[in-house]
Amino acid sequence: MPRQDAPLWLFADQLGPHFHAGEHSGRPILLVEADSALRRRRYHRQKLHLVLSALRHAKAELGERATLIRAGTYTEALKSYGRPVIVHEPTSHAAERFVHRLRRDGMVADILPTPAFALSRSAFAAWAGERTRFRMEDFYREQRRRFGVLMDGDQPVGGRWNFDAENREPPPKGAVGLDVEAPYLPDEDEIDAQVREDLDAMALDTVGTDGPRLFAVTPAEADTALRQFIARRLPSFGRYEDAIMGADWAMAHSLLSVPLNLGVLAPLEAVGAAERAYRGGAAPLAAVEGFIRQILGWREYIWQLYWHFGPDYLTSNTLGAHEPLPDWWTGLDTAAVDAECLRRALDGVRTRGWAHHIQRLMILGSHALQRAYDPGALNDWFASAFVDGFSWVMPANVIGMSQHADGGRVATKPYTSGGAYISKMSDHCRDCRFDPRTRVGENACPFTAGYWAFVHRHRDLLAANMRTARAVSSMKRLGDLEAVIEQEHHRDRF
Ligand code: FAD
Repeated sequence: MPRQDAPLWLFADQLGPHFHAGEHSGRPILLVEADSALRRRRYHRQKLHLVLSALRHAKAELGERATLIRAGTYTEALKSYGRPVIVHEPTSHAAERFVHRLRRDGMVADILPTPAFALSRSAFAAWAGERTRFRMEDFYREQRRRFGVLMDGDQPVGGRWNFDAENREPPPKGAVGLDVEAPYLPDEDEIDAQVREDLDAMALDTVGTDGPRLFAVTPAEADTALRQFIARRLPSFGRYEDAIMGADWAMAHSLLSVPLNLGVLAPLEAVGAAERAYRGGAAPLAAVEGFIRQILGWREYIWQLYWHFGPDYLTSNTLGAHEPLPDWWTGLDTAAVDAECLRRALDGVRTRGWAHHIQRLMILGSHALQRAYDPGALNDWFASAFVDGFSWVMPANVIGMSQHADGGRVATKPYTSGGAYISKMSDHCRDCRFDPRTRVGENACPFTAGYWAFVHRHRDLLAANMRTARAVSSMKRLGDLEAVIEQEHHRDRF
């Protein structure tokens, strides 16, 4: 361990006390706003705002202890700082290579394990051993046991690990939104006003609209967001986790991915708060288990797989999907889209840089899969167009889970569906010009027809998989299959 007073350089996703308090509380802090990082991709405007706002709020809170340097590049900032720094493991392959280079050059004195996740990379490597197939469920149960979460001795609380059967209901009939209190929204302050002014002046090439800051970027805001979510919204979380309602953008989701990914909220804090709500009788077990599964299970699993699969995983393209992303997609041009579900999901990205999980997986991801968009390009799009997109979180979610481009290393089957699923799980179809039951003609739903065209394109692969073989048999019974395929081949309006 380097000297107690060696400065600690914190990246913009390492800003909470779990990174700089405790054993590090005597260290000066270095924060860097690098122009090159802001211009690396065509980011969502609101994402840039969140990152700069988080950095500047951290500087304001740490006061004299922190130095915030604005520079062209990180290297320039470190040179001008003039002292070797220590860092926590960064969150991307590129940044990891970079800090190792800086260490060889003497600008970084040491690289410490990251407290951003509950499980260390070395503990995961020991668990993974020689496994070639990973099941999230196995990992999640191990996490519950290891961290003693929702456990009674060595048994899961309530005698079950999984409450999927109780969760994942369609939206309540006749309602326009969920009957839950609105999510916490932070108050903007003068730091946000300055960030907005600076971003305007920088003339960056961004996507999406500017808008009020919707997500927590400081530890105090994250704490309030967490407490309010637990008290007001968690009880409805699991039940409507997979439901989509046009007039309710946030449903019962926590909106905690931004503070978690910026490192201002520690994952075990969120998990602990949810468990206490259950133990105190404030939330049902099914909802609490569903939420804890997302953070202690999925989030940690996706992080570990990023490192475990390595950088080559990004080029996986088992289904041979090579279509470029259309301009209306990358430009978030919702006027070019007719399908209500797709338009609304894309509009969430345009106006907030956010859409909830099932919109990402079963609307945006499913559309991309059906239309054979290039998975690498899609991965980059998700990483830049979403406010919670970071390099580590995309590959297993996008390349693996949503595009099945990894040949099934993450998910045992491709996640896609026809319009019937969307019609059941959302209230979109009643307002849509397409009909989810129609495969051919003017009103043919692009998801329904696109689903059959997808099944046809990959019929050999799907027939060989127990979980998807039935789709191929059903496809063979369609009397209008040829017409569907021909129509989808020429479709230019979705
Ligand atoms: P909630 O629904 O309230 O869930 C609670 C928390 O669980 C989230 O805040 C998040 O931290 C965690 N979580 C749940 N599922 C996942 C998962 N699969 N991967 C990682 N964390 C998870 N999550 C991101 O943080 N950044 C992304 O860029 C991102 N892109 C995604 C792209 C695709 C194609 C898919 C299928 C999923 C993606 N996710 C991503 C996961 C998930 O959709 C978001 O974390 C979630 O929608 C964020 O909203 P929330 O905070 O309200 O989450």
